[in-house]
Amino acid sequence: MKKAKNILNINNIAKAVFALAIILVLVAVVLVFTRHISNDMASNDEYRSVVVVASGDTLSKLLTEQGFSNAQVLDIAKVLKSEADITSLRADSDKIEFVRSDEMAPISKIVIVPSPWRQIEITCDADGQWRCQNIDIKPDTRVVYRQGEILDGDSFYLAGGRAGIPEGILAEVYDLLAFEMDFERDVRAGQKFSVLYEENFANGEKVDNGRILAIQFEALRGNVKMYRFKKEDGKTGYYDENGNGAIKSLKRTPINNARVTSSFSNSRKHPVLGYTRAHKGVDFRASTGTPIPAAGAGRVVARGYNNGHGNYIKLRHNASYETLYAHMSRFAKGVVVGTTVKQGQTIGYVGSTGLSTGPHLHYEIIKDGKHVNPMTVKLPAISNLDKKDKERFLEYRKILDEGIEHLSNHPEWFIQL
Ligand SMILES: [Zn+2]
Repeated sequence: MKKAKNILNINNIAKAVFALAIILVLVAVVLVFTRHISNDMASNDEYRSVVVVASGDTLSKLLTEQGFSNAQVLDIAKVLKSEADITSLRADSDKIEFVRSDEMAPISKIVIVPSPWRQIEITCDADGQWRCQNIDIKPDTRVVYRQGEILDGDSFYLAGGRAGIPEGILAEVYDLLAFEMDFERDVRAGQKFSVLYEENFANGEKVDNGRILAIQFEALRGNVKMYRFKKEDGKTGYYDENGNGAIKSLKRTPINNARVTSSFSNSRKHPVLGYTRAHKGVDFRASTGTPIPAAGAGRVVARGYNNGHGNYIKLRHNASYETLYAHMSRFAKGVVVGTTVKQGQTIGYVGSTGLSTGPHLHYEIIKDGKHVNPMTVKLPAISNLDKKDKERFLEYRKILDEGIEHLSNHPEWFIQL
């Protein structure tokens, strides 16, 4: 029974997605049209004036300017505090709207807009009591699709910007892809990528970006795909096209955007020592003081100094994996042997201590006591799907893929959620 219900839900989503995708343009046109009408109607039977709070403005100053008495100002401030938890206005972001039945009538309603997703309406009833109502504005969420291509001499950020992908979304995409890709070696001119993500609108205007629903990148080592998916237990994560967890317990490149200056090798000429020996890690160029994030959650098992590594930290992540970070200028405050760290938490800062020719991070991954190449080792996923979730995921992925196909043929379309 339960399974049948799940499939039904998914089918419903599929129907909704396609029905909406197809009538998309129509919806957009109708929206714009009705907005025009409602604005015209509003201006016919109400008189509204909007004040954007400037620096130095206070609620009492603005209300006094509108002709409210001191007693009324106090009453309004009191009700705002007790019922909306608002005690002050923020310059440049808050707006106040004063509503009158006509231009000469007294103000019948005050609307405070502290965020695009919240409105507070203050009205006065017949017995002169001020009342306050909190209204949550539901975002109008649209799913959009952007695709880009890497050009000669390009970076992923440049190409993404050209494709119209907002900076915040790009940074998130980069972070997610960094689990699967080595941006230094896997990115070449001619590669295409795409992102399916949400944009939140209020009153027809874009306010912010929402979640990333799907990513695709034609990397050198194969197509990288990631889909956001909610498991039955309510937890969300990103999974590859086969339902394997895409968020890995370790990052290949702890520092984003850092250039690899020396790769893992079983024999290389050491830049300081001059003779050939194995390079058991990867070097990332970064300026002194750049924060070094932990590649994964774990515990500090070593922190110290030796002639080769300079200041270094070693983390243990689980029974198999350890990582090591060398040549640090200094350690992060409070990070000592025994400290538990989260993935991404700063453990130290880039430097050039020990045997080093310039500021860089030397990063090692040690699996079952053996050094492995961080750029190619298959990293363990944080969470994989059980059988039931996997079935649901594969159905859901098909729907998303078809949606993506529609949108890639009609880049001006969006899916209304
Ligand atoms: Zn090194």
